[in-house]
Amino acid sequence: MNRHFDAARSAEAVREVISSKSSVALHEPWFRGNEQKYVQECVASGWVSSVGAYVDRFEQDISRTTGSPYAIAVVNGTAALHVCLLLVGVRPGDEVLLPSLTFIATANAVRYCGATPHFIDSEMSTLGVDARKLGDYLREITVRRGDGYYNRLTGARLAAIVPMHTFGHPVDLDGLIPVSDKFRLAIVEDAAESLGSYYRGKHTGLFGKVAALSFNGNKIVTTGGGGAILTADSEIARRAKHLTTTARIADRWTFVHDEVGFNFRLPNLNAALGCAQLEQLEYFVACKRSLAEKYRSALSNVPGLRFVSEPPYARSNYWLNAVLVESGSIDDRNALLEALAHRGIGARPAWALMHGLPMFRDCPRMSLETAESIERSLVNLPSSAWLDPKPAGPAQNT
Ligand SMILES: *Cc1c(COP(=O)(O)O)cnc(C)c1O
Repeated sequence: MNRHFDAARSAEAVREVISSKSSVALHEPWFRGNEQKYVQECVASGWVSSVGAYVDRFEQDISRTTGSPYAIAVVNGTAALHVCLLLVGVRPGDEVLLPSLTFIATANAVRYCGATPHFIDSEMSTLGVDARKLGDYLREITVRRGDGYYNRLTGARLAAIVPMHTFGHPVDLDGLIPVSDKFRLAIVEDAAESLGSYYRGKHTGLFGKVAALSFNGNKIVTTGGGGAILTADSEIARRAKHLTTTARIADRWTFVHDEVGFNFRLPNLNAALGCAQLEQLEYFVACKRSLAEKYRSALSNVPGLRFVSEPPYARSNYWLNAVLVESGSIDDRNALLEALAHRGIGARPAWALMHGLPMFRDCPRMSLETAESIERSLVNLPSSAWLDPKPAGPAQNT
């Protein structure tokens, strides 16, 4: 127990950062640009559904914004992850490595492929995959056979790894990539939370074979609901588009589909909203980084709390701000959540770890002490970009 932790004092420090006097949600979208204009144009055009100019434009905008040679817009981030796993060849019976500390979509997507999630630990500093611990673990439990590495205990092939950039903080990719290479694991980045986050100057989502983005309503940029697949490989990109648009063979007069595809395309109406939101990404990142700096500075003098800062190699989008209760005591964490709720401040704990959920309880896993400690001690703080508005950027009402 940390004697010095004072939940009320901590909550007051948070309150001071948030200028708004009324109650504040954890994260809200902000429509301050061309959203109305583009959505109205889209409705007026009549093309609101599965085809239209805004989908193409949105894909080009994502490509330009991230530097990814290809971007395929889809219906949500979960569908993007699902298809990403298929694209790198995850097959029924395979195991896929992923952090236990993640949103449910990451683990569900593995199951949709008939594969088994294999849970790995996270680091306290980045909240992402602990590459060193993973390397040691894989040396111990794997055996090499022909086309890859197999789990000695279950006999399953280890097909892929899904690093997730938690709350927008990039994982230690220089640590992770050599481990993935050695054990022939395809990297599928779950970049759902990290649009606008860079690892050593390169956008997250460009480090593996494929990556998934999300444009859900609570993300830094929203299409209402939506997602995207990123890749640098033209053949994978072609296949991603094909699989997510019912696998129809392009032909004017016939409806022929050459495999069981998915109806995962993003409607044009959602893409219109997305085009307007993407224009403001850098502005939102600037607001969020400034808000994060205020939290960091206000909380640095509060005993027993540690603000989660971006790793030294990163520029994080600070999608969700987070603090850790240093005592690691769930009672302290709950006291902080209570004190914040009492002041109308929308805070929340970390996700319940995947390996504790009933459908994933029997999945293989390494020791997960750090993830468990993060689960007990983490609290997310209000992080909407509008909480710290900067002078208007160029994308406002153009
Ligand atoms: C938001 C999110 C997703 C995708 O969610 P959708 O709501 O399906 O767009 C996937 N993984 C993580 C870590 C997320 O935060």
